[in-house]
Amino acid sequence: MRPGAVKGTYDILPEDQPRWRALFETAARVLGRAGVEEITTPVFEHREVFDKSVGDSADLVVQKEMYTFQDRGGRWLTLRPEFTAGVLRAFIEHGMHTRPLPVKLWSAGPAFRAENVQRGRFRQFHQVNCELVGGGSALLDAEAIALLVDVFAALGLPGVHVKVGSVGDPDDRERYNAYLREVLSPQREQLSETSRERLRLNPLRLLDSKDESDQMLLAPLHRPLDLLGPEARAHFDEVTAALGSWGVPFEVDRSIVRGLDYYRRTAFEVHHAGIGAQSALGGGGRYDGLLANLGGPDLPGIGWAFGVERVLDALHGEGAELGEREQTLAYLVPLDPEAVPEVARLARTLRAEHRIEHGYVARNPGKGLRDADRSGARLAVLRGSRERAASAVVVKDLRSGEQVSVALDDLPAHLRAVAGRPVSEGTATTSGGLAR
Ligand code: AMP
Repeated sequence: MRPGAVKGTYDILPEDQPRWRALFETAARVLGRAGVEEITTPVFEHREVFDKSVGDSADLVVQKEMYTFQDRGGRWLTLRPEFTAGVLRAFIEHGMHTRPLPVKLWSAGPAFRAENVQRGRFRQFHQVNCELVGGGSALLDAEAIALLVDVFAALGLPGVHVKVGSVGDPDDRERYNAYLREVLSPQREQLSETSRERLRLNPLRLLDSKDESDQMLLAPLHRPLDLLGPEARAHFDEVTAALGSWGVPFEVDRSIVRGLDYYRRTAFEVHHAGIGAQSALGGGGRYDGLLANLGGPDLPGIGWAFGVERVLDALHGEGAELGEREQTLAYLVPLDPEAVPEVARLARTLRAEHRIEHGYVARNPGKGLRDADRSGARLAVLRGSRERAASAVVVKDLRSGEQVSVALDDLPAHLRAVAGRPVSEGTATTSGGLAR
């Protein structure tokens, strides 16, 4: 059997690379201007890093999604299902709490979850992640949300919906969990299996259920935002006031919850209608207490991540394409065996300024021009015995068909002039020369 890509994974082909690169460059630029610096952490960590960040009432759904395995030394390792835990592990390990706070870090790369595969849901996918560590101010929450929105705006993505809510402080959460247990326990038989499990371990997460009968049971109930204590309420009001005054569009969502246990207060999601059922582009929240939980100093933090595949899907759907592949300016055709090393050497010099390709075997003019055409180049540059005798090359514009003879010494200037002109204009500056 010929193995294909593992289910839920895929290849990013050469023609798709410019979009990916442009997305990462845009994120780097927008985040960099806000003083967010890049950090790269390994794709796998000791499993405890993720087990601890998932929390005591380890959400079974999250646990089951993790790729955890034993290496040859008997160590238990987990492929990162998200970035936060690994970034905070690195923050602690490098004593980054001694740097000026807040420390702002972003990362990008693959993440792994053993999910049911569908549109927008893969087993290896990519995230851009941002963490603002060491600040409890509501301004930082607003900044985090605004940065996420700014990245989407810089990517040119319209139709983005930002939902902001709060899960409150631990006390509020306890109170809300107790409330859900109280009202839902008598009806637990009507809940889906996952929701029954969640009612036992982490009732708040019931609100995430997509099950219709669960949703009916939940519909008349209070939401976390309704039961906030005064401090969490004041914090939430400050966050929304800041967003309002910065003109960041958002809506308040009373029932927003985040997957993991460690979230406190602000939680947010960004959605896009054009990408099917998995409409969440990204989300995040405040996680005061997580750093201490991972064995670090007790510093607050807030972060977010967005899914690169979903954002590219949304951009594509909006007809907003991103990034361009550099077009090959010239394809050099060797017309006799002597010209093969000549064009190879010429290509090396010209590549200092342009994308240049060349043939590796001698071709007749017809085949050579076809090769040049297939490469997508704007120009074919032909070199054979006649050109050698004249210390020249023949340059043919593959769109207009015009061709000119250009002295070798003048070729760099000629190519520069062509490269500076829009593709639609002709390229020939002089006519005549060695016709082929
Ligand atoms: P989460 O950490 O679950 O909040 O995910 C943050 C974002 O990552 C989501 O909004 C998605 O855009 C993306 N994402 C999460 N899981 C997957 C997946 N299995 N496949 C593709 N994208 C995902």
